[in-house]
Amino acid sequence: MTISGCAMIYAGRYLIAENMHNLTRRINGVTNIDMISIKTLTLSQQIGSHVSYIHPVIIFNESDLILCDTGYPNQAKQIDDQLKKYGFSVQDITKIIITHHDHDHTGSLSELQKLNPRMTVLTSAEEVPFIEDQTQSLRLLQAEEYNKKLSGPELVFGTHFANYLRTIPSAKVNRTVKHGDFIIEGLKVISTPGHTPGHISLFCMEEKALIAGDALAIENNRFDIANPEFTLDMEECINSIKKILDLNPKKVICYHGETIEDHVEALLNETIARYHSESRNF
Ligand SMILES: [Zn+2]
Repeated sequence: MTISGCAMIYAGRYLIAENMHNLTRRINGVTNIDMISIKTLTLSQQIGSHVSYIHPVIIFNESDLILCDTGYPNQAKQIDDQLKKYGFSVQDITKIIITHHDHDHTGSLSELQKLNPRMTVLTSAEEVPFIEDQTQSLRLLQAEEYNKKLSGPELVFGTHFANYLRTIPSAKVNRTVKHGDFIIEGLKVISTPGHTPGHISLFCMEEKALIAGDALAIENNRFDIANPEFTLDMEECINSIKKILDLNPKKVICYHGETIEDHVEALLNETIARYHSESRNF
């Protein structure tokens, strides 16, 4: 065999080996430090006569398992069950990111911390006082104000909601993050205020996937903005959506409504346009 023939075989073997390696990385998604895998969890919660489905997200590589948002209170068991689908448990969580302090995002945080005290809890500095219960939750303040305008069954519901918010367990935050920080390599914090003042989203650079928390929701296969009674600053919210658009995401994962992967740019533009044109009083 000629030398060049040997070299070709070696080169060929090298290429096959390299492709196999890439394939393994693609299949497992966890075999290389720079590979991040993202999966959505689905939790269900009975609220009155309907069931609410929410989607915390896990982001993992070979050294970290990160959970983004923690569901309603008493959902640690559901989270653990969902993690098992991917070969993990609550004990494997290294970090929890809280996008904002709403009850459906922080509800099971203290329960998870008790189950696994080693995990690091991160959020923006603006959200800390509300999560740690140093200051009354903005959502509760908003609900109390809103209830003043209500009467009859609406007031009964509003009062029930405000009382429920008072029962949400507080939890300790270990570290704060700000816009542009990296949680791990390739996973960037994007400041997306509006729904709450310190709301953050996460951007996975490689997949160009945005984990939007409640900066956006999905309803009927299009993006939507939470109702005014759940969005503290609508104008800021729209600016955050423009910021998301500038990232040119290929996929957007929303806590309410899960994932959109097709026509993301057009749908984001349509959401902004709808806000500006619709007579609906946002
Ligand atoms: Zn929410």
